[in-house]
Amino acid sequence: MTVITDNINIINTKIRELEQQYNRTPCSVKLLVVSKTRSIADIEKAIAAGQKSFGENHVQEAIAKIQALPENIEWHFIGPIQANKTRAITEHFSWVHSIDRLKIAQRLNDQRSENLPPLNICIEINVSEETTKSGINFTELPKFASQISKLPHLKLRGLMAIPEPTDDIATQRANFHKVATAFHDLQNAGFNIDTLSMGMSDDYEAAIAEGATIIRLGTAIFGPRIK
Ligand SMILES: *Cc1c(COP(=O)(O)O)cnc(C)c1O
Repeated sequence: MTVITDNINIINTKIRELEQQYNRTPCSVKLLVVSKTRSIADIEKAIAAGQKSFGENHVQEAIAKIQALPENIEWHFIGPIQANKTRAITEHFSWVHSIDRLKIAQRLNDQRSENLPPLNICIEINVSEETTKSGINFTELPKFASQISKLPHLKLRGLMAIPEPTDDIATQRANFHKVATAFHDLQNAGFNIDTLSMGMSDDYEAAIAEGATIIRLGTAIFGPRIK
């Protein structure tokens, strides 16, 4: 077996262990493999280990891979979105995790083909609430969520967050807890959402502890990115 194949198996085992350790429902945490900057050959190794969903953050780079790889792969767009890229995103992806502007959501909605199922959407939350970072602030979230949920060709699935990196697991958990609380508040307000996309290679344990349903891992699967 290749290292990549091994890593997929090791991480999946680890996810099942963490679900148990943190009293999560078995198989409630899904691995999204972040394949940005990685070669088609490396992605094929992950596919050979049974992996079916991949995350990309550059449209052009992603389309080349999507066209070269099997059709049953589920592609998730996880990066910042320029308005002139929305059409390509609606044509090639089934999920977008990085929605923080209504204008972009409206374009995705208007451009999504009637022949395809609604595009699955996560709203990106700005956990640390710095003005420079992408994401919606907690106070703006309820209004933004109701605007998104009115768009018929989008399906609001939940929230995504990229908290500031820190080695302190208590701080990691506190940040993820805030996102999970906002998620449950939306559910209690009547939003039919099921997805908490949070946790990367360096903080996925804390994310699972706090309720993540999708963790997005690149480095833990493929090793350090060179580009
Ligand atoms: C690159 C990236 C990841 C994966 O990061 P790793 O630290 O390599 O696991 C996850 N989410 C987003 C949005 C990314 O851009």
